[in-house]
Parts: sequence; C-alpha cells; structure tokens
Amino acid sequence: MVSKAPLFNRLALIGVGLIGSSIARAARAQGAVREIVATARSPATRRRVAELGLADQVVESNSAAAAGADLVIVCAPVGACGEIAKEIAPRLKRGAIVSDVGSVKGAIVRDMGPHLPQEVHFVPAHPVAGTEHSGPDAGFAELFVGRWCILTPPQGTEPAAVDGLATFWGLLGANVETMAPDHHDLVLAITSHLPHLIAYTIVGTADELAEVTRSEVLKFSAGGFRDFTRIAASDPTMWRDVFLANKDAVLEMLGTFNEDLAQLTRAIRRGDGEALFEHFKRTRAIRRGIVEIGQDSPAPDFGRAHPGLPAAPMPRPYAVSDDN
Ligand code: NAP
Repeated sequence: MVSKAPLFNRLALIGVGLIGSSIARAARAQGAVREIVATARSPATRRRVAELGLADQVVESNSAAAAGADLVIVCAPVGACGEIAKEIAPRLKRGAIVSDVGSVKGAIVRDMGPHLPQEVHFVPAHPVAGTEHSGPDAGFAELFVGRWCILTPPQGTEPAAVDGLATFWGLLGANVETMAPDHHDLVLAITSHLPHLIAYTIVGTADELAEVTRSEVLKFSAGGFRDFTRIAASDPTMWRDVFLANKDAVLEMLGTFNEDLAQLTRAIRRGDGEALFEHFKRTRAIRRGIVEIGQDSPAPDFGRAHPGLPAAPMPRPYAVSDDN
C-alpha cells in the first residue's frame, strides 16, 4: 500500500549500505518521504548510490546531508555513530527526528545522545532484519516486511516523535516495538549476537582442521556447516563494533551458554541418551514456535538458493533474512 501523503518532507540517510539502501528503496516504494538526501564515507560508495538512483541528492559530508532534514537516520557501523552525531549536531533542523539502525542500543544512546541539541528528538531504532551482504547494491525494498523494528527512545522523548518514527517503520512493512536500551541489548545478545559469535568460532575451527581435510569440509558442508558459513560471512566491521559495544550482555549470555555446553558435553561423555534426547526435543519445539509466529519459513533449508535445486516458494526476506 502506498501512503497518501509523505510522512516526512526530507529524509537524510547517513551511510547507504545494506540497511540504508533498503530504507531508501522501501521509503521510495511506499511514498513515505518527499525527498531523500544521502551520503556515505567514501567517494566510491557515494558514486554508486548516485548511479543506483537511491537518493534525490548525494552529498559529500554528513553535516550537509543532515541540514534541513526532518528525519535523519544514521545507517553506519555502531562505532562510528558518536562521531557522526557530533558532526551533524550544528546543522540539525529544530524539531527534526534523529535516529539510527545500530544493532546495539545502550552504546548508541551513550555515544550519540550527549552531542544532540535539545531541540531535536532522538529516537534510536534497530530494524531486526538483515543479510550477510553489505553495500548499496545489497539492499532491497522488502527487507523489513514482517520483521521487527525496536525503538529505544530515552525517557522524556516526545511521544509524537516516537509515533512518527513508528509510523515510518510501519510503512516500510515492519512491526514496531518499544523497549529500554539495556533490555534490547540483553535480548539481542542471545537471539543474534551469540549465534554470530558461535558461527564465527565454528567456521574458524573448521578452517584450522581444513589443513588436513579442506576438500571434505567444503564437499560435505550441507551437513549444518553451510548455514554457519553464511552467518560467518557477515560484515567484519559491523560485527567487531557489535561485540565491543555490547560486551557486558554478550559475556553474560556466553557464561550461560558455556554452562549449557558443559552439560551436553557431559551427557555425550557419559552416553546419557535420555538427556540428549530431552534437550533436542525442547529445542525442536522452540524452532516450531518461531515458524508458527511467522519469523521463518517451514521450507526445507535446501530450498535456500542452493545451486541446482529449485528455490523454495517464499518471499525474499524470509529466504535470506537474519535477525541482526
Ligand atoms: P554496510 O552495508 O557496511 O554499510 C555501512 C554504510 O555506512 C556504508 O555506506 C559506509 O560508507 C557508511 N559509513 C561508515 N562510516 C561512516 C561515517 N563515518 N560517516 C558516514 N557514513 C559512514 O552496513 P549495514 O549492514 O548497512 O549496517 C549499518 C548499520 O546497521 C550498523 O550499525 C549495523 O549494526 C546495523 N544493522 C545491520 C544489519 C545487517 O544485517 N547488516 C541488521 C540490522 C542493523 P562506505 O561504504 O563509504 O564505507
């Protein structure tokens, strides 16, 4: 459904990679904004954004992009957001909404908040959707459809600003929820950050083994390993920043994970089939619950763009989306 009147006059996108370019495409498709001004760090990316026609104007600096915008969304790695807030602060329009898409929220509130002037509304956000690909070519308009976008407004934020941003994300197809930044970081530590850490670990471990068996690791990768390699191909800069910025919550979850892993290790060592079976039965029920609430497809995994096999009949976001 295309909205009748644009919700915002001018949208500024600072950073136009996977997420920024998906917002640009979706906002255009839905008529959510009248005009898009964009910028990125490097001339090469800015050139590509212009070639793809993702914005009405591509400008050379973050502050030029933010000037006069009604909604500014910072779509850069978490570690860069504080400095960007400092750069754009003097040029922000009175009453503008300033947001971001970072995968960690406590650090964003801490790093961006203090630089922003009183007369703008700061509403941090995290669209829980993504893929392992980066850059302006990787985005697509449907990325956010049926996915969650979590808003973490600081206490005292004007409700109208929060509602405005929620309506924007709703137009892009997302379901919107509001929570405290620390709570967001704890939830995402277990649902997204720890799974990525495990994928990075296991792929690295297999690579060490591959000294002896490289051909077998690649040949038999469909046995679970292939999915890990996809997640472990996620952007190194983004994920370095996520683990640095969400250190406490990730360490807490990692502690619990290590205890559970020790229990399973013990069950294997003792030949305790019942303990293993009960554990796997419980986790299978969790998977079924995720499918039931529409956060993944029940289609078999081999339907996901595997060469030589027909693609499973499901919309693209469900086929490729990670919870990031
Ligand atoms: P990406 O594809 O690598 O794009 C990052 C963009 O930020 C690039 O255009 C980059 O420009 C630009 N950038 C970097 N530093 C900048 C700076 N100082 N000033 C202006 N622009 C700068 O990354 P992404 O996947 O879209 O992720 C962006 C944010 O979304 C991250 O905070 C991440 O946590 C969050 N997020 C990601 C996912 C996911 O699955 N990828 C999901 C949800 C949220 P250059 O190309 O010129 O370097």
